[in-house]
Amino acid sequence: MKTAVVLLTRDLRVRDNPALATACANFERVVPLYVLDPSLQDLSPNRSRFLHQCLADLRETLRGHGGDLVIRRGDPVAETIKLARAVHAEGVALTSDVSRYARRRQERLAAECERHRISFRLFPGVTVIDPGDVKPGAGSDHYKVFSPYHRAWAAAKWRDEVATPRTVTLPDGVSAGRLPAAPKGESPDALAGGETAGQRRVAGWLGHTGPYDELHNDLPADGTSRLSAYLRFGCVSPLALANAVRKHDGPGPEAFVRQLCWRDFYYQVAYAMPTLSTDAIRKTGESDGWRDDSDALRHWQDGLTGVPVVDAGMRQLQAEGYMHNRARLITASFLTKHLGLDWRPGVKWFFRWLNDGDVPNNSGNWQWVAGTGNDTKPYRRFNPIRQAERFDPEGVYVRRYVPELASIEGKAVHQPWRLPDAQRRGLDYPAPLESHRDEAVWLRK
Ligand code: FAD
Repeated sequence: MKTAVVLLTRDLRVRDNPALATACANFERVVPLYVLDPSLQDLSPNRSRFLHQCLADLRETLRGHGGDLVIRRGDPVAETIKLARAVHAEGVALTSDVSRYARRRQERLAAECERHRISFRLFPGVTVIDPGDVKPGAGSDHYKVFSPYHRAWAAAKWRDEVATPRTVTLPDGVSAGRLPAAPKGESPDALAGGETAGQRRVAGWLGHTGPYDELHNDLPADGTSRLSAYLRFGCVSPLALANAVRKHDGPGPEAFVRQLCWRDFYYQVAYAMPTLSTDAIRKTGESDGWRDDSDALRHWQDGLTGVPVVDAGMRQLQAEGYMHNRARLITASFLTKHLGLDWRPGVKWFFRWLNDGDVPNNSGNWQWVAGTGNDTKPYRRFNPIRQAERFDPEGVYVRRYVPELASIEGKAVHQPWRLPDAQRRGLDYPAPLESHRDEAVWLRK
């Protein structure tokens, strides 16, 4: 009996999963394995909960296909080899990934497989196009600017989707292992994880892509897919999603597929730059002279800056383990360009709370906003008041997340410091933190 082990990491699905599909097509016995890695746990209680939901759902699905999800705990390389040897596996399959940690893991696994004479194969599946599949040409290993990458990405030949395995047959005598108790998470209003929930969301979303180009910046409309965490954990195949949306014509679907390209863009940046989370991509622009001000940082983290749209975003983050993209831009710009604080604590704070938190998109976007990354206009800054008036014209988003301001009607909610003294004094809401890089521009009376 030919047996393979598929080490699942960020590909927690049975649909369009090349590693799993190929193993099931070529081996009579297949062990879908997930190793709970202590060095990755506790980074984010929200993501630990989401992951647990993904694993429980995948286990259920695989059982429905005659197999199981085998769970182990420890070093993923050591556990995979231990299991592969116990079941006399001839092959190990893994979906390739880009972070420094993931790449080190796959290199170690490849070396251990070689040492034990087990064949090892890497598969695509985390992005639409594998990082490195499109390159700008002579001498450069990745695209530094989005537009040319987007052109190459859209014109490239995408891989074919793979079929869902009909059956998954485990070798005899493998204990499935216990999924530990569900972690509590921190955000009460976060979405639940899993391929089943992700597919449900995709099905609902496909009918709503039409106005995406007009609505995706609209803060109160919530007109985006909220698929990011499902993509993050691989509950949804980015390729299958892009193919499904590309079947619909119009500016909405086109704009949505472009966002999936942004995701791939940052993956190829992270692939080329393993220190993306800690080192500025470029040392020019605003990257020098960050202030050190733990008090201002804490106010920003807690949503108590006194600038309502910033506080609304930061509180959405804690309540839902998610923040609207426009609010991410505003809050990140506020930290770096207004308070003049380093982007790295911002990366860490988002990474702790976001269900979709991942190294390429989080660090790549933070560097873009901070002016240390691949923005072609590194000195760009978002004026939070103008942004709020444009993307939340009636103040609905702010009132949703900042209840202290619920009594203020219309767009006046964006500048409580301009309210008549008596009304302002009645509010349990702080005065705005001082801006250190853009003095008085946005507080102008
Ligand atoms: P939709 O608007 O429905 O977009 C569809 C998909 O496209 C998203 O699910 C996502 O996978 C991708 N996408 C959309 N916008 C971007 C973008 N700017 N960059 C890369 N991919 C994008 N996204 C993450 O997935 N993880 C992160 O850790 C993350 N951190 C961010 C930090 C900052 C400071 C900023 C400005 C943006 C960050 N983003 C991150 C990108 C973006 O905000 C989210 O992907 C998006 O808000 C998720 O909501 P959605 O699924 O409804 O997006």
